[in-house]
Amino acid sequence: MANPRKRVPENAPGDFFVDSTCIDCDTCRQVAPRVFGEATGTSFVKTQPVGPGERRVALRALLACPTGSIGSLGGDDVKAAADDFPLPIEEPVYYCGYNSPKSYGGNSYFVRHPAGNWLIDAPKFTVPLVRRLEALGGVAHIFLTHRDDVADADRYAAHFHARRIIHRDELSSQPGAEVVLDGEGPRGLAPGFLAVPTPGHTKGHCGLLVEDRFLFTGDHLDWDRNEQRLAASEDYCWHSWTEQIESVRRLADYRFEWVLPGHGQRVCMPAAEMRAEVLRLAESMGR
Ligand code: SF4
Repeated sequence: MANPRKRVPENAPGDFFVDSTCIDCDTCRQVAPRVFGEATGTSFVKTQPVGPGERRVALRALLACPTGSIGSLGGDDVKAAADDFPLPIEEPVYYCGYNSPKSYGGNSYFVRHPAGNWLIDAPKFTVPLVRRLEALGGVAHIFLTHRDDVADADRYAAHFHARRIIHRDELSSQPGAEVVLDGEGPRGLAPGFLAVPTPGHTKGHCGLLVEDRFLFTGDHLDWDRNEQRLAASEDYCWHSWTEQIESVRRLADYRFEWVLPGHGQRVCMPAAEMRAEVLRLAESMGR
């Protein structure tokens, strides 16, 4: 629970606040960008939410916050907001919410499919989300992009009897994974689901391409909402920046319209524009 006595001084006066335990993961700024802003090393409430609709969006950010750093003194129905997760992005893709501190607040996603639903990376294991996922048909497959963002994947796998899929070079984070990917080539996992190795951030990092439309990118690349362009971070590249540049360049061989990252902003644009943007990013990374 957030502590009102630890409010950061940047908060606008009112019911909602961020306290000093914030780890600056960006989640609240993605979920409720009108309410939450960025100061040095922390988020803060830049504008108090107005009306029930905006309060509900702010409550989603409160529930998604990995560290419980967001508080509300307004007596809002937080349990009702819990029913909003997983939150539809575009069918069949949903944002799970409940970002985990184990993945430094990484995003995870849920994909509905008649042959078995998918998790991409894992959120906190929480009863409200588990109940909602059960109601949506459960989880059959858990695709893990890399070692940093597995969070509570083992608990979800045990609860739903799901198979975890991860590259061999990331296996130390999930030694009991049921499906182990090898090598640097793409691998079909099911019709419409393709694992695409994207080494760089970590050695065995992989993306997941769904229906040639949705690319789940883990920590490979994301959308820089300030610069309005795709971005990758050399500061957070743990394995090889040279390999990461080549991995980005190879993404131009695939068709997709969505980039759905573990950390950072998601984005959708026409496939031709996305390809041009991927090539521009690869070029800029090499400079
Ligand atoms: S979601 Fe929580 S930890 Fe992350 S930036 Fe917002 S307040 Fe900070």
